[in-house]
Amino acid sequence: MAAQVVLQPSPPSLGPRKTHHHHRLGTFHALESCSTMSELKQFHSQIIRLGLSSDNDAIGRVLKFCAISEFGDLNYALQLFDRIPQPDAFIYNTIIRGQLQTQSTRTCILLYTQMLCRSVLPNKFTFPSVIRACCIEDSIEEGKQVHAHVLKLGFWKDEFSQNNLIHMYVNSYCLDDARRVFDKMPRRDVISWTTLISGYSRWGLVDDACKVFEMMPERNSISWNAMIAAYVQSSRFQEAFSLFNQMRAEKVELDKFAAASMLAACTGLGALEQGEWIHRHVEKSGIELDTKLATTIIDMYCKCGCLEKAYEVFSGLSHQGLSSWNCMIGGLAMHGQGEAALKLFKEMENEKVAPDDITLVNVLNACAHAGLVQEGRHYFDHVTKTYEIEPKMEHFGCMVDLLGRAGLLDEARKLIDEMPMSPDAGVLGALLGACKIHGNIDLGEQVGKRVIELEPQNSGRYILLANLYASVGRWDDVANVRTLMNDRGVNKAPGCSMIELDGVVSEFIAGGRSHPRAKEIYLKVDEMLQCIRSAGYVPDTDGVLHDIDEEEKENPLYYHSEKLAIAYGLLNTSPGATIRISKNLRVCRDCHHASKLISKVFDREIVVRDRSRFHHFRGGECSCKDYW
Ligand code: ZN
Ligand code: ZN
Repeated sequence: MAAQVVLQPSPPSLGPRKTHHHHRLGTFHALESCSTMSELKQFHSQIIRLGLSSDNDAIGRVLKFCAISEFGDLNYALQLFDRIPQPDAFIYNTIIRGQLQTQSTRTCILLYTQMLCRSVLPNKFTFPSVIRACCIEDSIEEGKQVHAHVLKLGFWKDEFSQNNLIHMYVNSYCLDDARRVFDKMPRRDVISWTTLISGYSRWGLVDDACKVFEMMPERNSISWNAMIAAYVQSSRFQEAFSLFNQMRAEKVELDKFAAASMLAACTGLGALEQGEWIHRHVEKSGIELDTKLATTIIDMYCKCGCLEKAYEVFSGLSHQGLSSWNCMIGGLAMHGQGEAALKLFKEMENEKVAPDDITLVNVLNACAHAGLVQEGRHYFDHVTKTYEIEPKMEHFGCMVDLLGRAGLLDEARKLIDEMPMSPDAGVLGALLGACKIHGNIDLGEQVGKRVIELEPQNSGRYILLANLYASVGRWDDVANVRTLMNDRGVNKAPGCSMIELDGVVSEFIAGGRSHPRAKEIYLKVDEMLQCIRSAGYVPDTDGVLHDIDEEEKENPLYYHSEKLAIAYGLLNTSPGATIRISKNLRVCRDCHHASKLISKVFDREIVVRDRSRFHHFRGGECSCKDYW
């Protein structure tokens, strides 16, 4: 996950409280040093004895301790508040802030209304809390009224209130209102700018975010991080990289938030070299390696195909939190190392770390990718019972996948029937995939139609059903699925593969010719295929006949994106170097077969990350044992 930039403006002060009478000073001074409720209560009784129990000045201080300080007691504060005959703005501000701290946002808004009804004039310390309450509460209508009061009472110059208003409008997707507040501010601080940038990016308007970023007169690391995070969260990793380079050129310090965002970008692109660079930088610069950042690094290594490094970081941690265990187990699962993943899970249990939902998903995936049916059944029971984890949709999906791949279609179907919830497209999709692998046309057809109705915009679902029909030569049905897809305007995602060389990531689209060295690359593909033909490669034209594989139909099999990326890798790396590729879709059968032969004929290790797992091709074999 990319780092979230902290946007909440720091809590505003409550405003000054002046002491007018010298004889009270002693009492108040002692109050400041109070650290428990029982001490506080002594002072409270002292105040009563001094006859100050209806003195807002004195009571306000007692109230502040109870309502806001970490040693306080909000209930005591509320009782106190109810007995104050004429509370002033300071007292209201205090009690509203106390309620805000406990997230009682509705009460905050009610207190504010009460304040107005009792003709207590709000001051600039009132608004930030009330606006924030409206924001958390998602009460945009009340929020707009408060905004009107801010303007009417002349507090439109106060940054605290304005920043909170921007935050509130952004939160409710009122981006024009947020912008108006921003534009009218006489003075904007970094929080104002960053709130707007993150606001745009949160709703997917990354280009607008970028325009604001470029307008900033002065940027600090928070604003750079916000913009980098914006690109990463919308998967525009290349742009994140160029911004990151610009940031470094301007000598802005790389902190842990930017590091986390950039690691996520490396993970997205499969850019191992860049990821390693950031990892080294984190080590050198003394950025604190907390569990969260460590997990991001482990995740990067796992997803960039470098398990050894991931394990090195994992085992070097002084404290392995649940998230790093989950990440490491998930990484092993993704690489088809089921046994190792289960071994690590046992270690985790020995260390008395209790697993959660995610652990169970990863353990079951480990079993599914390695065909460990017995173990999968065992862990499903064991984990749900021992740790009282209620199995969720996802867990049933993993089990159906595990059983289905192993050909236990009846058991998979029985599990679906017995699930406490009705299966979603993910669970049924797993069964459909299994029907395709094991050639169960009748069940596959039933399930396939249901899946398509559950997810009518997901092209992969149509393709799987069409392939199922194609595998038994039902071409009319293949054509019907195609027509249905076209009628509903469902587009297939184009196949796209990425390869990183010398820190530069190149993208290849199936059949695409936009690369400056396209001609050379296509020649290399032809040469590559010629070489493996003599080693027994026969194109798997099944896919071409169906004309409906995951890759675009107009692109011949030979120029699928991973073939282009492999050719580019062969052209640009020295003999023996590992070629690492990441792909957005599942690897097709033909590319899988070709990659195995290329690894043998060209004596290269090829690591491909596809949509769901890793393939390590070496010496003519794949680590997935053709089980994917
Ligand atoms: Zn392919
Ligand atoms: Zn494979």
